[in-house]
Amino acid sequence: MSEKITSEKEFGFLIDASRCIDCRACLVACSVENEVPNTISRIWIKETGVTGQFPNLSRYSAPYHCMHCDDPSCVSACTVGALQRDANGIVTYDIDRCIGCRYCMYACPFEVPNFEWEAQLPLIVKCDMCVARLGEGEAEPACAATCPTDAIMFGEKSSMLAQAHQRIDLNPDKYVDHVYGETENGGTSTFYVSPVPFEEMGFPTGGSISPAYSNRLVTHGTPAVAGSVAIGLSGIYLTIKRHHAGPLVAGAEGEGETAVAPTPDETTEA
Ligand code: SF4
Ligand code: SF4
Ligand code: SF4
Repeated sequence: MSEKITSEKEFGFLIDASRCIDCRACLVACSVENEVPNTISRIWIKETGVTGQFPNLSRYSAPYHCMHCDDPSCVSACTVGALQRDANGIVTYDIDRCIGCRYCMYACPFEVPNFEWEAQLPLIVKCDMCVARLGEGEAEPACAATCPTDAIMFGEKSSMLAQAHQRIDLNPDKYVDHVYGETENGGTSTFYVSPVPFEEMGFPTGGSISPAYSNRLVTHGTPAVAGSVAIGLSGIYLTIKRHHAGPLVAGAEGEGETAVAPTPDETTEA
């Protein structure tokens, strides 16, 4: 593990929509790095569509992936501990613990966890900040390392947030006066600055109160009988999983791999 990732520092992203040219190199890099077909990508593009009157047209875009929340709703909702927030602020995913229940998909206010709908034993796909890559000593996740315009920056969380505010303070006419991710869902490790309001790019907006607490009421207050059923199903599922040798992700070696990732319903068609 690199010195960086073993430290107790928290890490994060600063994503600048004014720099994104929608080339989608970050999507390809993510799929290659994590050996997942881009049909079940961990990262998408949000964008405004073309706006304005000819010839004064504009269009803004930004990559979109797990926000790595301070109090992650997905972690609260996961009954088997497959999702965890580590000391570096990275919300990790343990494929060996996951039972495919999809509670995390319903809990996440950013609609981030993706699901292998077409796999025989479908599981979740979610950005993990390239934690394995960082552990091998790389300085940045694959998406940040690949972006040709530095629209995705990666570093110590406090520095990313400070730089986000600095960009807005130094260029008040260029950016909207809001760092997306600073307060959303109770705070996150992914910060965005943008020349246009975030709702115009299709970002979820709806307050800054973390729903993790209410999720805990549901999951931790589940009657014992429901817990027993979940444990029983987990055992059956894991037994079946052990008997399935082969690629972890359906289609990883097959027809699902193309050069440009399609985007889910809420994003632009590629
Ligand atoms: S964005 Fe969603 S998946 Fe990511 S940490 Fe937050 S709640 Fe979990
Ligand atoms: S940090 Fe890694 S897993 Fe997350 S979107 Fe970027 S490349 Fe994909
Ligand atoms: S690689 Fe950079 S410029 Fe290209 S789509 Fe991703 S964030 Fe935007």
